[in-house]
Amino acid sequence: MRIYNTLSRSVKEFKPISEGQVYMYTCGPTVYDYMHIGNLRTFTLSDLLFRALSIKYNVKSIQNITDIDDKIIKRAEEAGQEVAEVAKEFTQYFLEDVNKLNIAWKMGEQPKVSDYIEQISEYVSDLINKGYAYSEPDGSVYFDISKFKDYGKLSRISASSLKTGTRVLSDNYSKEDVQDFALWKAVPQGEKGSFYSKRLGWGRPGWHIECSVMSQSTLGNRIDIHAGGIDLIFPHHENEIAQSESKTGEKPFVNYWVHGAHLLVNGEKMSKSLGNFYKLREITGKGIDPLALRYLYLQTHYRQEMNFTWEALEGAQNALNKLRREFASWEGERVGCAEFEQRFMDAVGDDLNMPKALSIVWELVKSDYPGSAKKQSLLKMDEVLGLNLTNYKEEEIEVPPEIQELAGKREVFRKSGNYEGADKVRAEIEEKGFMVEDSKDGIKIRKS
Ligand code: AMP
Ligand code: ZN
Repeated sequence: MRIYNTLSRSVKEFKPISEGQVYMYTCGPTVYDYMHIGNLRTFTLSDLLFRALSIKYNVKSIQNITDIDDKIIKRAEEAGQEVAEVAKEFTQYFLEDVNKLNIAWKMGEQPKVSDYIEQISEYVSDLINKGYAYSEPDGSVYFDISKFKDYGKLSRISASSLKTGTRVLSDNYSKEDVQDFALWKAVPQGEKGSFYSKRLGWGRPGWHIECSVMSQSTLGNRIDIHAGGIDLIFPHHENEIAQSESKTGEKPFVNYWVHGAHLLVNGEKMSKSLGNFYKLREITGKGIDPLALRYLYLQTHYRQEMNFTWEALEGAQNALNKLRREFASWEGERVGCAEFEQRFMDAVGDDLNMPKALSIVWELVKSDYPGSAKKQSLLKMDEVLGLNLTNYKEEEIEVPPEIQELAGKREVFRKSGNYEGADKVRAEIEEKGFMVEDSKDGIKIRKS
C-alpha cells in the first residue's frame, strides 16, 4: 500500500513499525454539537484506511473524544447543563452517525479526555521537568516552542514567524498563532469544566496535549499513522509532535501523517462557524440513505476538496441503488474474478484511489462474468467500500393496479415489436412516479 505522508509531502510505500501490526490514531470529535458531513468525510477517510489496512494487517485504531473544551463549556453554560451532560449527549449522536455510515473502527477504544486528567498532568509535569514547558504565576502551563528545535517540520512554517515569548490560551487557534500554547489552563476551583490535579492544581488541559497523551498511552510512543482533516496540520498536529517528541527525547512520534481535504459548500469550507453545514440527520430526513453519502465520499479522492451539492448526493443515491439491485440479482457466490479483485486492490493501495476503485466495480458489474463470480468479488470489495451490500433488502412496494395495467400494455407492445408504443407507455408510467425495468427474470416495477 502506498500512502501520501504530509510530513515528507510525498506518496510512500507503507511499512508498519512492527510486522503485521498497525497502530493508528485519528483526532476525534469535539462533542459540543452534532457532527456536520464535513467532519464525517474525515472520519470516513479513517474508516477507509482502517479497512484497507485490515486486509493485510492487524490494525489497532483509536479515536479520541474531546469532551473538555471551551466550546462545550460555553454550550453547557448557555443551556444550564453540566459539561459532562452536553458531552454525553453529543457523543451519543456522533456514535449514531458513524454507525449509520458503517464506520468500522468505531468499535475500537474511544478514550475521553476527562478520563485522562491524571495522565495528562503527569505528562505536563514531565515536560516542565525536561525544560520544554513553563508555569505562569496563575498556575497555567505553556509549551515553549523555542525549546523544540524541529518546531514547524510538519506544517513547514518558517522560523521567522515564531512569536517567541508570546502565548495563546484559547482552544480556538488561528494560523497566525505561532507561539507558545497552553498545556494546562488554570481555572478557579468549581468553575464549569475544572478538574483538580495534585501536580498542577485546579484547571483543565489545553487542546493539543490530550492527543499526545491518549495516543501514546494507548498505542505506544511511536505510532504508524495519525489522521485528521487538513486544518489540523497547524497548529494541532505540529503541537502534538512538539509535545510527544520532547517527552520521548526527540524520537519520532508518528511515521505517516494522513490528512483529508475539506468538504466545501459553494466553494467554502463547510464549518459550524460559517453556518454553511449539513448534518447527517438532515440528509436522512429527506429520505436519503446515509450510505448514499458514503458513496458520494468515495467518488472524490480524499486529498481533493469536494464540493457538496444535493444533485451529486442524489446521483450517488441512484448509483448505489443500481449497484444494490445488481448485487441482489446475482445468485450464489462462487470463484470470484481475480483480475478485477487485483485491479480494485491496486487502486485502493494507490493512496486510497477510491474513485478508480469504484470505476473498476462498475466495469466488473458490466462485464460478461457470471453473476456468482461478480457477487463473490463484490463481496470482497465491499469489505473496503463499506456499502453493506449483503445486508440490503429492497423495500416491498405496492404497485397500484393502474400501473400494473400500463406495464402489461407495454409488454404486449414490446412483444409484438411495437417499440414506439412501448416507449410511450413507459413514459406514461414514469410520469406517474414509477419505472419499469427489464431483467432476465421478467419486468420489475419500482418507484422512481
Ligand atoms: P472538530 O470537531 O472541529 O475538531 O473536527 C473534527 C474533524 O473534522 C477534524 O479532523 C477536522 O479536521 C475535520 N473537519 C472539519 N471541517 C471539515 C470539513 N469541512 N471537511 C472535512 N473535514 C472537516
Ligand atoms: Zn488530535
